[in-house]
Amino acid sequence: MKNITVIGSGTMGNGIAHVFAQFGFVVTLTDIKQEFLDRGLKTIAGNLDRQVKKGTLTDQQKTETLGRITASLDLADSVRAADLVVEAATENAAVKKEIFRTMDASAPAGAILATNTSSISITEIAAVTGRPDKVIGMHFMNPVPVMKLIEVIRGLATSDETYAAVKSLSERIEKTPVEVNDYPGFVSNRVLLPMLNEAMYCVMEGVATPEAIDTVMKLGMNHPMGPLTLADFIGLDVCLSIMNVLHDGLGDTKYRPCPLLKKMVAAGHLGRKSGKGFYEYTQQQ
Ligand code: NAD
Repeated sequence: MKNITVIGSGTMGNGIAHVFAQFGFVVTLTDIKQEFLDRGLKTIAGNLDRQVKKGTLTDQQKTETLGRITASLDLADSVRAADLVVEAATENAAVKKEIFRTMDASAPAGAILATNTSSISITEIAAVTGRPDKVIGMHFMNPVPVMKLIEVIRGLATSDETYAAVKSLSERIEKTPVEVNDYPGFVSNRVLLPMLNEAMYCVMEGVATPEAIDTVMKLGMNHPMGPLTLADFIGLDVCLSIMNVLHDGLGDTKYRPCPLLKKMVAAGHLGRKSGKGFYEYTQQQ
């Protein structure tokens, strides 16, 4: 594995491109508009600067890392020499399926096609390609350069070879891969989101204030961040959409989204990104 293409240069895509380039891979980063690519590259440069200031990277390593990343607006062309593609475009099944059709038609027959989706079925995405055995989930965590986990999700048809290649690649970029099967929410969101949802029920039922609930979980359970602070950070719209995926996909009422969460999303209180969620945020925060 040498050439990696990353589709989408947003929050996750630029982090994934950053990490692969830092570990010596030749990276092509794609998006649909030049301004999105420019913003992604600027974020990577800023994050590398921070590593240099912390002393975890030299100035020369920063320059070499940036030198290994090429930007492209042509999806089909960007995957022609790829050994592996990691798709990190917008979380929308129709968008992802279209990208996978294009990649399947243009990437080398042996290339592995991975997706960073948080909630869409890997099996369903793989089914639009002629190589479902080479399609797999690589679920990186945010912020990618910092977080060690990659949830590696096997679709129904993912081959052992594909899994083994992705496992070893994940280790080469100093991440810890964890093998998971393709069910709604995988492991990370299936375990995390019901906890955040339950914290919201506690607010709704007046059990305690958001500050009190977060303090209980931080000091009592040693969580680095309280569940309501974390929900605001993830985005309440994203939390609602993941709860809907769990509820629809698993069909159990224990996954019903909290009515307060639905009401806050309807009001446009989406957390940190909208300035208001369970807490209020100023521009500087
Ligand atoms: P984002 O909105 O920050 O970035 C998505 C990028 O994809 C945008 O720049 C958009 O222009 C681009 N894009 C859309 N359609 C495209 C196309 N056809 N070709 C190329 N680029 C296209 O989103 P994000 O937060 O980076 O999420 C990306 C993926 O990662 C989603 O599947 C999401 O579920 C998943 N994910 C997100 C997080 C998170 O914390 N943000 C964590 C894990 C996984």
